[in-house]
Amino acid sequence: MASKECVICDEPIATPSELDDGICADCDGAAVAETEDELRSAGIDPDDEPVVIAAEVMRRINLPS
Ligand SMILES: [Zn+2]
Repeated sequence: MASKECVICDEPIATPSELDDGICADCDGAAVAETEDELRSAGIDPDDEPVVIAAEVMRRINLPS
């Protein structure tokens, strides 16, 4: 089986992300940092438990705009 390529940087994956084997660990780290920045700019603390963040995001999505 050929090694998969990262969907983000298109390089063969040497070390897959622990969270998503379609991306490499380097891109995963960058994606996590980017997501945390987005959460902070939205007023959500990225250090909260994932379930807390998910609940907050769902609450905002359900708010009438
Ligand atoms: Zn990558």
